[in-house]
Amino acid sequence: MLVVGAGVAGLVAAIELHRAGRAVVVLEAAPEVGGRVRTTVRDGFTLDHGFQVLFTAYPVLNEYLDHGALKLHPFQPAARIVRDDRGTALVGDALNDLSLLLPSLTGGALPLPDLLRMLRLRQFAKGLTIDECFAARYAAVSTRDFLAARGFSARTINGFFAPFYGGILLDRTLTTRASVLLFTFKMLAEGKTAVPEGGMGAITAQMAALLPAEVIRCNTRVRALNLENGRAAGVTLDDGTVLQAQDVVLATDLVTAHALTESVGAQLHEPRQVLGCTTLYYRAQTALLPGRALWLNARRDATVSHAITLTEVVAAYAPPGQHLIAATVLGEAATHDDALLDAAVRKDLSRMAPGTNAAAHDALATIAIWRVPLSQYAQPVLANNAGAAASARTPVQGLWRASETAHSSSLDGAARGGQLAARELLNTSGAR
Ligand SMILES: Cc1cc2nc3c(=O)[nH]c(=O)nc-3n(C[C@H](O)[C@H](O)[C@H](O)COP(=O)(O)OP(=O)(O)OC[C@H]3O[C@@H](n4cnc5c(N)ncnc54)[C@H](O)[C@@H]3O)c2cc1C
Repeated sequence: MLVVGAGVAGLVAAIELHRAGRAVVVLEAAPEVGGRVRTTVRDGFTLDHGFQVLFTAYPVLNEYLDHGALKLHPFQPAARIVRDDRGTALVGDALNDLSLLLPSLTGGALPLPDLLRMLRLRQFAKGLTIDECFAARYAAVSTRDFLAARGFSARTINGFFAPFYGGILLDRTLTTRASVLLFTFKMLAEGKTAVPEGGMGAITAQMAALLPAEVIRCNTRVRALNLENGRAAGVTLDDGTVLQAQDVVLATDLVTAHALTESVGAQLHEPRQVLGCTTLYYRAQTALLPGRALWLNARRDATVSHAITLTEVVAAYAPPGQHLIAATVLGEAATHDDALLDAAVRKDLSRMAPGTNAAAHDALATIAIWRVPLSQYAQPVLANNAGAAASARTPVQGLWRASETAHSSSLDGAARGGQLAARELLNTSGAR
């Protein structure tokens, strides 16, 4: 059996197939496993390939992780909101961290009635099962309409939820289906937000270690899918090598998956619209954006969507005495050239933390500009097929799809996609 792609979805599929005693080979185009969940250590700085976080409550992903060995470092369960002309305000989950009660109540980030609505929303989401979060009634309504129907003020929707969504879903429009909001709130309520001491790449490295080393072949790009009598028969690699297999699990990103299947005349029924972002990493002598809460930039003219001094969360992410700042830019602005982007982000950072002196801002050194044009896929409302059971089957017999698109654009969504593909394949091939 061949698995194409060694991101979270491909790794989970391969682990399940291996555990079921099947001979499996994973073909990965990149020099290392992990896909979107990778880390590079450069001059003592730990740089994820785009800033991202782990929700420790993710139930399916957790089946493959050892949290203790990952040495997770939690964020404060809060966000620091940067407002147009009223400075910053902290708002957080006081049920998770009591010390957040007073600042949330007195900081003025949200009016008191909306704070109470937030509390009720948290408890409501926590009380749902994950399947209920994704049921048709929530999948068919946009986050903006859902929040308005729960009575949230326009100020809170635009001033908190829009940048909050920018930080989590890389999309500030709030056109995403409400299911994702409920899922996110449930995960936030049930666990912590954290990063491993070794960077997010430690997650996929740990998963890969569940497979014998010879199973995964990196630097091995699949050029084409091969069919025989309309059925999957294997793949052709970039170097022309043909590998035969009765079953092929396609665990690539959705753009590659569409291209590979369309080249054999098949059509996948999955989203096409992708969301990109760029994370800029800076070295600093001081923690310019202090604290362990994510800074959400709610200013109307924001370039930076969200930022954090990562060394406030994990001191080991930088050499002793130095700090690492990650600032993420979304949408069209994320595509500007390096010089333009860097200048705009530096300007924004100085406005976000205006209390710090100019010398501290001048001392910022750009370490890396990480562009991820395909970070997540858009998850708009599902008017017609909401609630339809996800399947890993494709129009081509023997070709299976393992992807986050089976569930949600998240690490847990990808793990679910991998698990689904392996289980459907095993059920079918067991019956063959
Ligand atoms: C910047 C950023 C921030 C994010 N933030 C969060 C977050 O905070 N929380 C969260 O839960 N999720 C977050 N996500 C989303 C999460 O990372 C993804 O949902 C998940 O990693 C998708 O995994 P995947 O296995 O489906 O796809 P991928 O990780 O894209 O894996 C696909 C693999 O296929 C390989 N491949 C592609 N083409 C070929 C080919 N022709 N031959 C062989 N191999 C091929 C690729 O190299 C890659 O390794 C974020 C993503 C990004 C990029």
